[in-house]
Amino acid sequence: MPMPGRDSPTAPGSPAIAMPANPARMASLLSNLSQVIVRVTSAATKANRTKQVRIVAVSKYKTVSDIVTLYAPPIVHFPNAHLHFGENYVQELLEKSRILPPGIRWHFIGVLQSNKCVTLARDVRGLWAVESVDSEKKAGLLDKGWGERTPSNIGFEEHGDKKLRIYVQVNTSGEDQKSGVQPDAAAALCRYINDECTNLKLMGLMTIGAIARSKASTQDNQNEDFVCLRETRDKVAKELGLSSPEELELSMGMSDDFESAIANGSDQVRVGTTIFGERPAKADATIT
Ligand SMILES: *Cc1c(COP(=O)(O)O)cnc(C)c1O
Repeated sequence: MPMPGRDSPTAPGSPAIAMPANPARMASLLSNLSQVIVRVTSAATKANRTKQVRIVAVSKYKTVSDIVTLYAPPIVHFPNAHLHFGENYVQELLEKSRILPPGIRWHFIGVLQSNKCVTLARDVRGLWAVESVDSEKKAGLLDKGWGERTPSNIGFEEHGDKKLRIYVQVNTSGEDQKSGVQPDAAAALCRYINDECTNLKLMGLMTIGAIARSKASTQDNQNEDFVCLRETRDKVAKELGLSSPEELELSMGMSDDFESAIANGSDQVRVGTTIFGERPAKADATIT
């Protein structure tokens, strides 16, 4: 018998329901999200994109009130409810996934540590994708964790998901401190995920890119990181024998450069600051 609350990381007596933000905060969050939707839509139109570009609202260090405010809000001009949120820290995501509605589609986009992979895949309710996979070992551990999920943490049933979606993170900028596989190692890892990890579905490639290039990008110029990710994707698709490179998505573009990313072929942008405002320092951040 599942006991409500028993296996939840939230302490007994703590609020199990996330309340929307106060009216002023609500209005500004909704307005920020609508503006991002408008900018994404117009960049996609300008680039003659036919498929809709997915927006992941990056909510790290932001409160559950902020998130529940944006989750599927009734924005009449835009028919698609907002469902996708991104988080960087496993513990924060675990806690939020227990408090927030199970229909949220969570993306883990942070630096992935091997010792957190099993719990991430097994215990986060509504986990939709892990975007920062950069080794066979971590892919194998996510595969194992997804296989160990129990009904009490399946929020993803509503998503109709049998497999955990995976993006391989590529270090397109060659900076030492950036995670991700080197571009020429991406195909081998993708093949491993395809062939050896029965619980995982390879969705595509992800990059963060160099800050300087991101600050300099406009809708019209070429950003080397985005070009590199696209070329890497095309090579991987070929090596895996896919019928079209578009079978693999590109997750690229953040607050400063998402329009340029879309012009360069991005299928998914990850936008934090432009939606939620500046993030607090880690020490000052609380989720409620
Ligand atoms: C924080 C973060 C983002 C969002 O960055 P903003 O500049 O706030 O939009 C996107 N992707 C990753 C991997 C991140 O860590």
